Amino acid sequence: MSTPSNLPRTTSPPSQASVVIVGGGMAGLSCAAALARHGISDVVLLEAKTLAHAGASSFGETRMFREMYSDPVLCRLAQEANRLWGEEEVQAAEPLRETHGLLFYGESWDEETIEGSIPGARRVMDDQGIPYEALRSEEIRARFPLKPKPTFTGLFEPTAGAVRSDRVIAHWTRTARNAGHQLIEHCPVAGIDADGAGVSLENGHHISADQVVVTSGIWSQLLLAPLGLAPKLEVWPMLWAHYTVDPALANRYPQWFCFQQQRGDDGGLYYGFPVLSHTDDGRPRIKAGIDWAPKELRVAEPNAMTTEPPARLVELLDAFLFNEVDGIQERVDTVISPYSMTSDVNFILDRLTPNLSLFAGGSGQAFKFAPLIGDSLARLACGDQPAVDLSCWSHQRDAVRA
Ligand SMILES: Cc1cc2nc3c(=O)[nH]c(=O)nc-3n(C[C@H](O)[C@H](O)[C@H](O)COP(=O)(O)OP(=O)(O)OC[C@H]3O[C@@H](n4cnc5c(N)ncnc54)[C@H](O)[C@@H]3O)c2cc1C
Repeated sequence: MSTPSNLPRTTSPPSQASVVIVGGGMAGLSCAAALARHGISDVVLLEAKTLAHAGASSFGETRMFREMYSDPVLCRLAQEANRLWGEEEVQAAEPLRETHGLLFYGESWDEETIEGSIPGARRVMDDQGIPYEALRSEEIRARFPLKPKPTFTGLFEPTAGAVRSDRVIAHWTRTARNAGHQLIEHCPVAGIDADGAGVSLENGHHISADQVVVTSGIWSQLLLAPLGLAPKLEVWPMLWAHYTVDPALANRYPQWFCFQQQRGDDGGLYYGFPVLSHTDDGRPRIKAGIDWAPKELRVAEPNAMTTEPPARLVELLDAFLFNEVDGIQERVDTVISPYSMTSDVNFILDRLTPNLSLFAGGSGQAFKFAPLIGDSLARLACGDQPAVDLSCWSHQRDAVRA
């Protein structure tokens, strides 16, 4: 018997739709799934390449979720997103997150990084009653296979963990297809109508739409600039990799983020996950990455971003893993994925015109907010307002005005 998810998929675009979504990453797919829940069935999602492909920002098996934010507004929005993840998991009938805690550790200095800071996060968690453990360097060393410097301190948020992003993408894809949405791959959009009432495809086809939602990540500028609506965004090439680890330590790795001040060309911010996957030949591996991009590699033009892992960044990531983490055996791959960055490291989620909405600027933080982002974009496309106050993500704020 056929079920909606295994019916043949239409790949030729229609001429009309209630909602057209441009981009099939986290934001576009979460919006498509949320529109299904809002009862909108006539939805077309157009993806230039393939859903959540390796050259865009949503690729990979894991993303961190946490409430440990230095910004009280983001902390509250992360709490709301966690509530929505719970509902999402009920609908998916499978866990979409692994809750194993998150360790923030490192130096404390009087500055916020793009991920916040240890003292800032501690203040906000105290104010909002979020449970955490404060750890000294020797306690971190005793508990985890990490080698913190004697001056380091740590915060452990036990209710944080990893979103299984690949599972989430598959869940939204199923949800959207089961609702009858058309998700069309290899279908680049060339332009958005000046009045926002449709899109033109690179193959010359036109789709009229009541609402257009732009979720094209680092490529948003290219579609919005001709309309005079492009926000100010930078593209950062971000390096991450998998390392095999000593099987004897495999179940002791925490999810961690290390804060250190910049020294020379070492930006100082590194992160890693527990063992959540294995190599094809069965060796346990962790995912780790650096959380800065050198100024000379940041670009405004998305197609100008380097896609080759720069040798110096690979060298710095290797040096951190092999020197500061116990049991690291071998780097088995390296990947460059882009951050879409605003100057205040906050997102843009807003209605740009009465029938055109945008999500962009997801930086290294937006995946944990995905159910909130999807629901909010769906509400905008239905002519409503987001269910919570998202004025901090306005496209009108000074930080994103081009
Ligand atoms: C290395 C890395 C680590 C991260 N870690 C975390 C984390 O730990 N926790 C967390 O919460 N977040 C994290 N993030 C952030 C999060 O993953 C991103 O913010 C999010 O995935 C962005 O999704 P998106 O849908 O906006 O963009 P994308 O995933 O880039 O999707 C945009 C899509 O639009 C398509 N497109 C572009 N132009 C067109 C066009 N003209 N026509 C049709 N399609 C088009 C693209 O091909 C692409 O598929 C991380 C991001 C990266 C890169």
